[in-house]
Amino acid sequence: MENYDVAVIGSGPGGYVAAIRSAQLGYKTVIIEKYATLGGTCTNVGCIPTKALLDSTHHYAEAQHGFGSHGIMLNEINLDFSQMYKRKSEVVTKNTSGLEFLMNKNKITHIQGMARFINDSTIQVSGKEGEQTVVARHYIIATGSKPSTISGIEIDKKRIITSTEALSLQEKPKTMIIIGGGVIGVEMASIFSRIGTKVTILEYADHLISTMDHGLGRSLQKILKKEGIEIHLNQSVYKAENLGASAKVFFRDQDGKENELEGDYVLMAVGRRPYTEGLGLENTGVQVNNRGFIEVDEKCCTAVSTIYAIGDVIGGAMLAHKAEEEGVLVAETINGQNRHIHYDRIPSVVYTWPEVASVGFTEEYLKKNQIEYRSGSFPFSASARARASMDTEGFAKVLVDPKYGEILGVHIIGARAADLIAQGVIAQEYEVTAEDMFRISYAHPTYSETLKEAYLIASGQGAVNI
Ligand code: FAD
Ligand code: NAD
Repeated sequence: MENYDVAVIGSGPGGYVAAIRSAQLGYKTVIIEKYATLGGTCTNVGCIPTKALLDSTHHYAEAQHGFGSHGIMLNEINLDFSQMYKRKSEVVTKNTSGLEFLMNKNKITHIQGMARFINDSTIQVSGKEGEQTVVARHYIIATGSKPSTISGIEIDKKRIITSTEALSLQEKPKTMIIIGGGVIGVEMASIFSRIGTKVTILEYADHLISTMDHGLGRSLQKILKKEGIEIHLNQSVYKAENLGASAKVFFRDQDGKENELEGDYVLMAVGRRPYTEGLGLENTGVQVNNRGFIEVDEKCCTAVSTIYAIGDVIGGAMLAHKAEEEGVLVAETINGQNRHIHYDRIPSVVYTWPEVASVGFTEEYLKKNQIEYRSGSFPFSASARARASMDTEGFAKVLVDPKYGEILGVHIIGARAADLIAQGVIAQEYEVTAEDMFRISYAHPTYSETLKEAYLIASGQGAVNI
C-alpha cells in the first residue's frame, strides 16, 4: 500500500492539470487512469482529434472551393481518408506522450487502472498489475463524462454511433444523420460535409448551438446550409434502428407530424452524462444530484472534506478549460490558498468555419432578466483584413451596460473568433469599459478591429474604420 498527499482519479484536462499543480506545490501526487493513454476525453476522443480533423477538412474544402479565386489552380484534388485519420491519430499521440513526459518531469506517479473507493479514505485500483490499495490525504475525482442518449435509442457503436466512433471510422460515409445541433453536432457536421458526406442535422430547439447567443446560431445555420448541410429545427427524435448496412431515425416536428430518415450512420450528439460508474461512490459520503453529477461547493469540495471533484463530472459547462481551472483551484485550495473561479467569464468556442466564440451574458439572457444594455455589432464583410483573406462571413457583437459602459457580453462568429475571444475575457475579468476597449490601438489590418468597431457602436459612436 502506497501513501500519497494527493490522488487524482482520471487524467483528462481536469485531472492532469490538478496533478501537475499539486506536484508543483510540493505534494506527493499519484494520477490513476483506466485507459492506457493519458489525456481523457479531450485529448483522445474530444477536443484534439476533432480539431485535427476540422483543420484537415478545412484545408480540403479550401483547396476545392477557395484556392481558385487566389489564382491557385489545382488540377486534381483527391482525399486520402485513411491518411487524414492517420494524421489525426498522430496528433493525439503527440499530445498523450507529451502528458507522459509532464507526469515524469513533475515526479507524479502514474497508475493505469480503474479506481474504486472502498471508503472515504482508501481506494482500490485494479489494472494491468493486479489490485493495489492507494491511500491519500486528499482525493480529486476527475472522471469526466460519456455520451448520453435518449430513451428509445441504444447506441450500438456500429450504425448508431457517437463522436467517439465517428473519430475512428474506416471509410468516408456517404450519408450521416446527426441528432442534436449543439457543439458536437455542428463540428461533426462540418468535418463530414466538407469531405462529401451528405449530412442532415435534426435539432430539437428552434436554432443551432442553443446555449449561445441566438444571433450566432442563426448566422451559423445560414453558413452551414450554404455548405450543403441539411438542417431541420424543431424536430424531436424518438427512435433509431440499426438496419445492418444503414440506420433509420424516427422523429416528429412540433406539430406532431411524423417523419423518418435513413443514412449510413446516425450520430448521437444530444449531450453528455457524468461518468461515475465503478467509482464506488456508494462507499463514501460523496453526494450526487438527480442527474448523476457529483455535488460540490464553490471550492469543488464534496460532502467529504478530503474528497474534491472537478470537470465534467460535476456539471456546468462541459469544457476542457473549465475543468483545468477547477484542477488548479482544488490544488491551490488544498494548499491553503484562497482561489475563486468566475464561471460567467469562461469562454465557449465552436470550431466550425467560421469559428463561433462567446463570453458573458447573451442578449436573450439580458432581455429575459430585464437588464438594460446597448448592443454594437460589426460585420466581418466590412473588415479589410477579412476581405483580404476572403473570410467575410459573420460579425462581432458586444453588449454593454448603457450607464457605466461595463462589458456584459462578447459574441463573435467569424474567422479566428476562437482566439479573438480572449480579449473579451480580459475585458470582462478586469471590468474595463467599452470606451477603454475602443480607445486602445488595434493593429491594422486585423480581425480584431471588428471588435473595436463594435465597442464604438455600442458606446453610441459610429464606426470609424473599414
Ligand atoms: P475527461 O476528459 O472525460 O477525463 C476523465 C478521465 O477519467 C477519462 O480518461 C476516464 O477514462 C478516466 N476515468 C473515469 N473513471 C475512472 C476511474 N474510476 N478510474 C480511473 N480513471 C477513470 N472542450 C473544449 O473546451 N474544447 C473543445 O474543443 C472540445 N471539443 C470536444 C469534442 C468532443 C467530440 C467531445 C466529446 C468533447 C469536447 N470537449 C471540448 C469537452 C471536453 O472534452 C471535456 O469538457 C473535458 O474532456 C472534460 O475533462 P475532465 O477532466 O472533466 O474529464
Ligand atoms: P449540447 O448540449 O451542446 O447539444 C445537444 C443538442 O441536442 C441540443 O441542442 C439539444 O436541443 C439537442 N437534442 C436533445 N435531445 C434531442 C432530440 N430528442 N431530438 C433532437 N435534438 C435533441 O451537447 P453535445 O453537442 O452533445 O456536446 C456535449 C458537450 O461537449 C457540450 O457540453 C460541449 O460543451 C462539449 N463540447 C465542447 C466543444 C467545444 O468546446 N468546441 C466541442 C464538442 C463538445
